[in-house]
Amino acid sequence: RSSAEKFEFQAEVSRLMDIIINSLYSNKDIFLRELISNASDALDKIRFLSLTDKEILGEGDNSKLEIQIKLDKENKVLSIRDRGIGMTKEDLVKNLGTIAKSGTSAFVEKMQTSGDLNLIGQFGVGFYSVYLVADYVEVISKHNDDKQHVWESKADGAFAISEDTWNEPLGRGTEIRLHLRDEAQEYLEEGKLKDLVKRYSEFINFPIYIWGSKEIDVEVPADEDESNDGEESPEDKSEEEDDAEKSEDEDSEKPKTKKVKETTYEWELLNDVKAIWLRSPKEVTEEEYTKFYRSLAKDFSDDKPMAWSHFNAEGDVEFKAVLFVPPKAPHDLYESYYNSKKSNLKLYVRRVFISDEFDELLPKYLSFLLGLVDSDTLPLNVSREMLQQHSSLKTIKKKLIRKALDMIRKIAEEDPDESSDKEKKDAQKSSGDDDEKKGQYTRFWNEFGKSIKLGIIEDATNRNRLAKLLRFESSKSDGKLTSLDQYISRMKSGQKDIFYITGSSKEQLEKSPFLERLKKKNYEVIFFTDPVDEYLMQYLMDYEDKKFQNVSKEGLKLGKDSKDKELKESFKDLTKWWKTHLSFDNVDDVKVSNRLDNTPCVVVTSKYGWSANMERIMQSQTL
Ligand code: ADP
Ligand code: MG
Repeated sequence: RSSAEKFEFQAEVSRLMDIIINSLYSNKDIFLRELISNASDALDKIRFLSLTDKEILGEGDNSKLEIQIKLDKENKVLSIRDRGIGMTKEDLVKNLGTIAKSGTSAFVEKMQTSGDLNLIGQFGVGFYSVYLVADYVEVISKHNDDKQHVWESKADGAFAISEDTWNEPLGRGTEIRLHLRDEAQEYLEEGKLKDLVKRYSEFINFPIYIWGSKEIDVEVPADEDESNDGEESPEDKSEEEDDAEKSEDEDSEKPKTKKVKETTYEWELLNDVKAIWLRSPKEVTEEEYTKFYRSLAKDFSDDKPMAWSHFNAEGDVEFKAVLFVPPKAPHDLYESYYNSKKSNLKLYVRRVFISDEFDELLPKYLSFLLGLVDSDTLPLNVSREMLQQHSSLKTIKKKLIRKALDMIRKIAEEDPDESSDKEKKDAQKSSGDDDEKKGQYTRFWNEFGKSIKLGIIEDATNRNRLAKLLRFESSKSDGKLTSLDQYISRMKSGQKDIFYITGSSKEQLEKSPFLERLKKKNYEVIFFTDPVDEYLMQYLMDYEDKKFQNVSKEGLKLGKDSKDKELKESFKDLTKWWKTHLSFDNVDDVKVSNRLDNTPCVVVTSKYGWSANMERIMQSQTL
């Protein structure tokens, strides 16, 4: 069209589209899931705005928050329409092509190695999956603040936008028209579409309709010709026999009619919008939770969530919540930990979706969790800013953290690999599926252990609960992970402190001269090898009344030796000589020690100074 304005796709987006177009990926169905999810997001947005401005929804059909699907076999077009927020011309330019999202290149990279398109939604580029099935796509959109526009592209590196003067006015919302490729004609089959929509819309909270055909029986005047008798079913026959008796006296008054099949079209509702979180946890099956997780996470791989917690909080602040521990950490979990504002929790107030960027609900260290909170206590008709300051949020947050930590603790309790104490054995018995739970906590730890450590640093209130979840290797753990409780259960009688050492690797630490004497005396020493551990140990001072002692630092006491005083006395001159010959800029003191066995001397850090490992970390950060 001559009035169309042309745009080029941003380079990364263009690459992504090429990959999709040429993909041999067999599960092309996923485009429908992405389009339904976008329609649902757009509906959530307009519904949220309507809370503070009723006018915004308009009247009549416009105010119906719904999704409609139509099949046009003749023109080979599948269209999906929503009455959501719509897009202005500027939105169309930005959202569909010129501004690449942060996930775009990450996804392109992933596609090149795995070829698995299933996770496209997680990377924020789900829309482009339409090119799995279509070679030409039109997006018609009407936003309250702008005229109706059409975005169109044949995925040839460019798209065009025109003011829409020829299509029927949408009122408000978006219609996506997919001109299906020859090999994707199956998406015009009503039965197939219905199945797919049902599958992909299980957790969509808006009604989805399909313009479906229906065979109905209509009564038409019967003609004299009885030739189609043969098609009648036995049931009809018996009816006829009944009729035969009556016909004797009614025959002449009533004209004879007969039933014929006729095809009509009408909007057919495909989903049931009862929210899973409103149901009693006892009634929801494991499979339903897994599917719910997948739709929340946009994770349609075969992985199951590691754990979930579905509960109903009562009292001053009422809410229902479902939390999930995902099977894997998202690709960017720690990439931008301190400056990201992304939470994975959806907030609903009385069934109305409010936001999924509500950082007041969970602390940052739990941002790896996914889920949803629906509160009856929070007010509905206030702005997001007002809501963010609502006093109930603190209570909700506190409860969510408790429940989250309980859920994580249970992963460990139900893992047969974890421990041997009785309580945990009992937990295993009741859970039954040992095999699935085996090694689960190690998997959890490998994916999210760092979050637990960050929690210990950041959350003083829950520090002890979090410390219980901590895992590490030690000089006695035999290559396996162990916990503080297990360490304590193995402590020698008379041992007061929990010993640990920090360094860059277990191999390096095992050879450390600081360990010689401790090993010989059969003390267990924890190995902390993650850079974050240095910070962690600045916050974790004690656990169950036991102090932590870094064995490379001053203050290590391995019990009194009767010879200590004697040795100190006899080496007095030597230590004095050392002190005068070593500059005080470099050492604070020179002492006789009982911490060594074979090594003649070691450099020890003062109690409040940086350990050698910390020096190493700081150096690598400033370089
Ligand atoms: P995501 O949904 O993860 O943001 P998509 O690639 O699916 O990524 O969609 C890109 C953007 O296009 C959306 O964020 C939204 O702004 C816009 N969009 C897509 N579909 C619709 C729609 N039906 N109504 C309004 N906006 C839409
Ligand atoms: Mg999307």
